[in-house]
Amino acid sequence: MSHHDEFQIETTAVHAGERRPGPEGSVVFPIYQGTVYSVDEGTDYHDIKYLRLNSTPSQVYLHDKLAILEGSEAALATASGMAAITAALHSVLRAGDHLLIGDTLYGGTHDFITHHAADNGWSYTFVDPHRPDTWEPAKQPNTKAFYVESITNPLMRVGRLGEVADFTTEHGLVSIIDNTFATPVNFQPIKAGFDLSIHSATKYLNGHSDLVAGAVMGSADRVNAVRKTLNHYGGSLDAHAGFLLARGLKTLALRVKAQNANALALASALEAHPKVDVVNYPGLESHPDHEIARALFTGSGGTGDVRHSGFGGMLSIRPAGGLEAAKSLCELVQLPYSAPSLGGVESLITRPAVTSHGGMTAEARAAVGVTDDLVRISCGIEAVDDLVIDFMRALDKL
Ligand SMILES: *Cc1c(COP(=O)(O)O)cnc(C)c1O
Repeated sequence: MSHHDEFQIETTAVHAGERRPGPEGSVVFPIYQGTVYSVDEGTDYHDIKYLRLNSTPSQVYLHDKLAILEGSEAALATASGMAAITAALHSVLRAGDHLLIGDTLYGGTHDFITHHAADNGWSYTFVDPHRPDTWEPAKQPNTKAFYVESITNPLMRVGRLGEVADFTTEHGLVSIIDNTFATPVNFQPIKAGFDLSIHSATKYLNGHSDLVAGAVMGSADRVNAVRKTLNHYGGSLDAHAGFLLARGLKTLALRVKAQNANALALASALEAHPKVDVVNYPGLESHPDHEIARALFTGSGGTGDVRHSGFGGMLSIRPAGGLEAAKSLCELVQLPYSAPSLGGVESLITRPAVTSHGGMTAEARAAVGVTDDLVRISCGIEAVDDLVIDFMRALDKL
């Protein structure tokens, strides 16, 4: 379907990329399981229809759907979020290039950069996405790109993303953003001026905690460059996982809007509770990035686009009573599973010090605010009252 700008995101999620009529009249786009297809003489290697080359009918359908949802010209699905991140960086950076990179990153991204950048001949400087005055001094003559995340884990910080896009345009750099936590329902980076947007589709895009996938979005030229890189590294998405991801995408807007609402209600209730010392949620006025987040995500200070609708489904808290209270809370809540990862329909609760940030030393964790008593919550789509009451009952028992 075309003319998606006329529709709200719930409609777009259902109809974007769908073929009408579908193959054999099918309403649901089928899984093309075949790896090989007949080839016309003279077809470019990267355009031969082959599963690893990301060119089979099911893959092209999924790419169309992803691109329209993210508000970009093109998209590429990958075998994981890390495959998306590494393919994007390998397509942009050459040996000898320098990267500006946000100082709070998903653990896998942080490890990739610190363990593998040097092997590839890349240098990098960590910068604070909240401090535009520090970017120019950190820039070098060989700086090629600037990489940030839209909402960082686990304190849910939101950097000066509009300024990042402006800075990269001004200095001819490629801007790359990991938009996993915000999702296109809340933030569409390409429309905000970023060159490449990346997702761990394992999280909200699929939304059911049952597959690993990634995605890269941007202009056709940039995404095609990432696709050629990915084709060589061999990180294409399996046909069945691609089918499940497309199915998950159809309910993305419904799910994320419910998760936005649940997280805001839960964050507000927790903030008012005497047994909670700190709540980190960008939708709360007390959050240091509330104003930036409001402008970027809800459109009130930006485009006014009604599709930009909330502050995401992730929050973290520090209960009064320290580590023991944090451990007890994780056990006392009935609805959330005690598990890492995020973005599924079921709520999850975890202590980042022993999961996502478990590979860091206690000092390094403390330096980035990941204290041992920090509890992170990924809100699912349960009824808001059930979720809030569950936490209130658990806190009362502390
Ligand atoms: C999970 C995650 C990734 C990595 O994604 P995988 O699908 O596990 O490879 C990257 N960035 C963020 C923000 C994530 O949450």
